[in-house]
Amino acid sequence: MAEDVKSLNFIEHIIEEDLRSGYSKNDLRFRFPPEPNGYLHVGHASSICLNFGLGLKYNAPVNLRFDDTNPAKEEKEYVEAIKADVSWLGFKWDTECYASDYFQQLYDWAVQLIKEGKAYVDSQSSEDIANQKGTPTEPGKASPFRDRSVEENLRLFDGMKNGEFKEGEHVLRAKIDMASSNMLMRDPVMYRILHKAHHRTNTDWCIYPMYDWTHGESDYIEQISHSLCTLEFLPHRELYDWFLDQLVSKNKLRPKQREFARRNLSHTVVSKRKLLQLVASGVVAGWDDPRMPTISGMRRRGFTPESIRNFADTIGIAKRENVVDVSLLEFHVREHLNKIAPRVMAVLNPLKLVITNYEEGKEEWLDAENNPEDEGAGFRKVPFSKELYIEQEDFREEANRKFFRLKLDGEVRLKNGYIIKAESCTKDANGNVIEVQCTYDPKSKSGSGTEESLRKVKGTLHWVSIPHAVTAEVRLYDRLFNDPTPDAHKDRDFMDFVNPDSLEKLTGYLEPSLKEAKVGDQFQFQRMGYFNVDKDSTEDHMVFNRTVTLRDTWAKLEQKD
Ligand code: ATP
Ligand code: MG
Repeated sequence: MAEDVKSLNFIEHIIEEDLRSGYSKNDLRFRFPPEPNGYLHVGHASSICLNFGLGLKYNAPVNLRFDDTNPAKEEKEYVEAIKADVSWLGFKWDTECYASDYFQQLYDWAVQLIKEGKAYVDSQSSEDIANQKGTPTEPGKASPFRDRSVEENLRLFDGMKNGEFKEGEHVLRAKIDMASSNMLMRDPVMYRILHKAHHRTNTDWCIYPMYDWTHGESDYIEQISHSLCTLEFLPHRELYDWFLDQLVSKNKLRPKQREFARRNLSHTVVSKRKLLQLVASGVVAGWDDPRMPTISGMRRRGFTPESIRNFADTIGIAKRENVVDVSLLEFHVREHLNKIAPRVMAVLNPLKLVITNYEEGKEEWLDAENNPEDEGAGFRKVPFSKELYIEQEDFREEANRKFFRLKLDGEVRLKNGYIIKAESCTKDANGNVIEVQCTYDPKSKSGSGTEESLRKVKGTLHWVSIPHAVTAEVRLYDRLFNDPTPDAHKDRDFMDFVNPDSLEKLTGYLEPSLKEAKVGDQFQFQRMGYFNVDKDSTEDHMVFNRTVTLRDTWAKLEQKD
């Protein structure tokens, strides 16, 4: 019990407190409220895991609510992508809701506020309104239209709704307090005129409600008990409450807004607007480019829902903003893929190796274990022959004793195969080694049980039989930005920090079992990292993404700098 209490996050503490002070468990209801103006990113994943996690924990419904009040930026394409992303993360929403479904109700309530003298039509320009707002230490000035009669307000608001005015001609404002220390309470705008078609309501409306006049009211309509949002909305809470004060009836549950810190991830940006800029400027190939911190980008890259959820659980939620290192996310990806990804052999920077005492034209199909972490994963066959590829970096003519790979006169074991000894090598005109000649010990075959097969040699290399190899395009990704916090520099644009080398394309040589792999299938290329099959793959041109390396090479590099 004590353990349980200790592990509660501060939002759960608030909920527990509410349960103690009279809320019933049946009152609990949450929502995840994306604006469909872009694709979801890893920051949203945190919010999704928080809200849906609470739903699971308290067995309470969670709505997926589209906050679609700005037709200028919102599209159906984004709605569909958001639904796919939330489902992929493994969560089920109770009801699919749209703020636009509440336009009529919001309008009716606005009319009610006008009738009660709590809202008025302001016919000034947005500049004039802004100029009268005052400063945090100086009160604002009342609009000359603040004391319009109820009749005139009703007539103008009706005209706004009926399309009688141009954009910017009038707005509807709440009549609160032009001297409030909270600037947001100085007669905030509730409606503006926008002659734009909406992706759901089409041209039914040409006035659209503002965020503050939509969000709490949508929460109220859906009877959301705890409306969780990010910290920048803390000053909005007073306004959220003021609007509810005007509407809430006694027998209904009154939602409460509570705030948690936005999640930032290092070496990237988590803002739809900035991600859109990356897409629009062609820095990346689209919203689902595997370098993007979008949920669709991470999915395409090979990150798993489990690893993203585990990452979100580990970082938890905070009251203060901070930057989480992306290597923590990659750690969780590695941890999960280590359990589930079959092992295969693939050579990315090939060096030809010829086994001089192996019979020309002979081939053997060796047993290879699919996943030592998963007993049920079984074995497969990999072909062995006289000519193989190994990685260039696995051979040196000379090396010290710490080099446990192949060097002249040295021995290594070829994974699942034989012990070989490097006898000589051939170089090109520039002195680069282009071929290594070896001999093998025919009695040393892995798993054959002979004394020689049990002999220990220091290094084990992966390899691929040249005549059997499948070639594929292999895409290696690096950080999209060179700087840990690209958008935190006052005088520099985040685009200045784009890493020009974030994508490298190679031709890889893969063991033939990979010919059968399907889009999305995941593998560990032994000693090279985790990879998956990209959607760009075709019948005769396979494309693999490197999801993540086996170890965190980046952390080491940064330490050296
Ligand atoms: P963006 O600036 O990327 O558009 P947003 O907050 O405007 O972000 P919304 O679609 O309005 O995006 O957000 C939906 C929900 O996700 C909100 O509750 C929001 O607070 C939350 N959210 C957005 N970004 C983050 C983040 N980086 N960390 C945690 N929660 C986030
Ligand atoms: Mg937004």
